[in-house]
Amino acid sequence: MKQTENHGKVSYVLVIGFFFLALLAHGNLLAEELPGQSDSSYQMEKTGQNQIVIAIDPGHPSETSGGCAHHGVTELQICWEVALRLEKMIDEEPSLRSIKTKPAVDTMVTNRQRAECANEAKAAIMVRLHCDSANGAGCTVYYPDKQGTTQGVTGPSEEVISQSSLAAQCMQIGLAKVIGPYLKLNPVKTDSMTYVGSKQGALTGSIFSKVPAIVVEMVYLNNASEAAFIQSFEGQDLLARGMLAGIKEFLVSDQKTDF
Ligand SMILES: [Zn+2]
Repeated sequence: MKQTENHGKVSYVLVIGFFFLALLAHGNLLAEELPGQSDSSYQMEKTGQNQIVIAIDPGHPSETSGGCAHHGVTELQICWEVALRLEKMIDEEPSLRSIKTKPAVDTMVTNRQRAECANEAKAAIMVRLHCDSANGAGCTVYYPDKQGTTQGVTGPSEEVISQSSLAAQCMQIGLAKVIGPYLKLNPVKTDSMTYVGSKQGALTGSIFSKVPAIVVEMVYLNNASEAAFIQSFEGQDLLARGMLAGIKEFLVSDQKTDF
């Protein structure tokens, strides 16, 4: 009886084992169908690779700041909203594709990670969106004019510096065409004219950038009329269209070099 019982158990285990083997074999068959699927995703990726990647970096929160807030508007939220508009406009261009350096408005991303995100995507340019908070008015474009050092790293390269300078001049041209009649456009400034840049030589996001990087301080948020401007649909639309025009100016510039 005991023997029969054991024999019965062995048969039972064999049947179960066979059942699992059959399942595994079926699984392998399914797995063998996958190359066809990855072929099609590869095609999609290849199409994407023909497009020029534009990195949009909506400012804050980073290791240094959560962003300023004035007149009921936070820099964090308003930069995100303009970034989404710019993202949509870029993605509507057949030859362009956008990436953002963070997935959601309140995702904390260090300035180093923001640059690394653009580097990994091999972006043609990284456009960093911020708002100023000081005595002044208008929109200001910044670029790294020399190397800086932070976290034991010195950068960006001389080529990134010269291409960032070109990108800033082109952004200025694009912005002037679109926002010129509606918002003051200040002369282009350099990283070393900023608080962090004056200490490090360049902004952290520029130091780690292997692609041309510029900052657009879109408005002075502490200025009531500019806070109202950037909160409005028209203001956000003008800024995004102006930046897209600037990006295009850069992409077609005969001084632009490929990395
Ligand atoms: Zn900022």
